[in-house]
Amino acid sequence: MATRRQITETEKALVLKSHGRKCFIDGAPFGDDEVVEYHHIKPFSEDGPTTPDNIAPVCRKHHLTIGTMSLQEYRDKLALESFFKDGEPKTLDDLISTKKGTFGKTMKFEVNDSHITLYPGDASCTYPLHRCHATGWRYFYAHVPVEFISNDAELQPRPLRLASLWSLYRHFVSNTQIAPSVCRMTGQGKILLFDGQHKAAAQVWAGRNSVEGKFYLDPDARKLKETNLTAHGPLRQMSFYTHELMSKYADIFGEDWTDYMSTSGQKSEAGFSAFLAKAKKKTKAQANNEISLAIYSQIIEHPKNKLSAYLAEKHRGRKQPLTFARLKKAFFQTMLVPPPVADEFASDSDMRGMERLNLVKFLNMVAEEGLDGKWSPERNDAAHRHAERLFSAGAVRAWAILLRDAINQHLHHYTDDQRSRFFYCSIADNEFNYFRGFITKVFGHKLWDEPDPNGEIAARLAKDDAATSRSLFDEKGLTVQWLLGI
Ligand SMILES: [Zn+2]
Repeated sequence: MATRRQITETEKALVLKSHGRKCFIDGAPFGDDEVVEYHHIKPFSEDGPTTPDNIAPVCRKHHLTIGTMSLQEYRDKLALESFFKDGEPKTLDDLISTKKGTFGKTMKFEVNDSHITLYPGDASCTYPLHRCHATGWRYFYAHVPVEFISNDAELQPRPLRLASLWSLYRHFVSNTQIAPSVCRMTGQGKILLFDGQHKAAAQVWAGRNSVEGKFYLDPDARKLKETNLTAHGPLRQMSFYTHELMSKYADIFGEDWTDYMSTSGQKSEAGFSAFLAKAKKKTKAQANNEISLAIYSQIIEHPKNKLSAYLAEKHRGRKQPLTFARLKKAFFQTMLVPPPVADEFASDSDMRGMERLNLVKFLNMVAEEGLDGKWSPERNDAAHRHAERLFSAGAVRAWAILLRDAINQHLHHYTDDQRSRFFYCSIADNEFNYFRGFITKVFGHKLWDEPDPNGEIAARLAKDDAATSRSLFDEKGLTVQWLLGI
């Protein structure tokens, strides 16, 4: 058995000579007096030997964050994260094209009675053809060069998920692929992969040049689609337009989400919460809290959310009017339906997406009317001090409730059920003009500019509860009645 040891100076020189004076991870050259560190390419813990051909130079920054991964894995992980970085949905086509420069090339082929011959290049390969007893479709098993594969967008519209891809990648580094990916080859020689895309993608990412698959020869696509949907029963309702939610949840919950998705029956927040409680031994409060965080993060990270720019966590080192805790207490907890809702994901009654959109529109108006061009700690002028008072801890919580109540009245939400589903419903665009009116009226109230020589107003607005500010609002005539003009 190998023993752990330090590599010698002679070996270090050898390693530097074969890899060059650059970091193995990102290829950045070392500075003249930069410390060069050394790390196993294949990990020592997996029998990677301590010999110069299994050692590479690495910079200190990368060495500190590498953990138990091997250099090869770590490099692939960073590259994979950067592949997903722009937030756009990524398909197998994108991945193959990133790795190989091309994808979906047309395959030349010839069929005789019992065999098929493929011509991926100059050479050819012949495989036996089988016939399916149920459908009469012909199929063959083969290894096909990666650049001939493309994703079957019709049968398999879901994009790739980083979490699944990474765990499969790690799996395939040292394990065999038990079941092949499944493809169909059209009469024109287009090879479309519709089952096992993560498996195929993980291996392409790991550097394999061919995809191992079962290939149906020009089957009836409509019938195949039905078969594929039935085979993936639990995922059937996860239509394409919710892929954002699905991939987001998969990233956040990882294995828990995948496991839940593989159970049978309808899928909903309530179902997921019950699943976390039962199968994962979480308390109801923990489970619901996790779902809340997923919902919050989708709002904060929504590309159109202008208020996020004023969030302290997003801009360290600059004084910001909002923190996550304040957003949560002022807006999320008072304006969102608390999870879990029982509405089936992606069904007509599932209004989470709508709710998110409504809240983002509302928060944007808060940003535009209260902060844009006004918030400026550097200038610290009257407009900034106005904004600062407006966004004091307790003030935000109190006026958020005030606005919610005014909007509920304006929308004739009188029952508790309607009120509890404040934004969890479809709201006509023109109503938002009224909401903006309420916001500008609240933000224009004289309270925000009133002289405060002994700091009493500031102190009351800063108290982190809604009630203290609310009582000040009442004294100053900042009420729902005033807001609605009744
Ligand atoms: Zn480095």
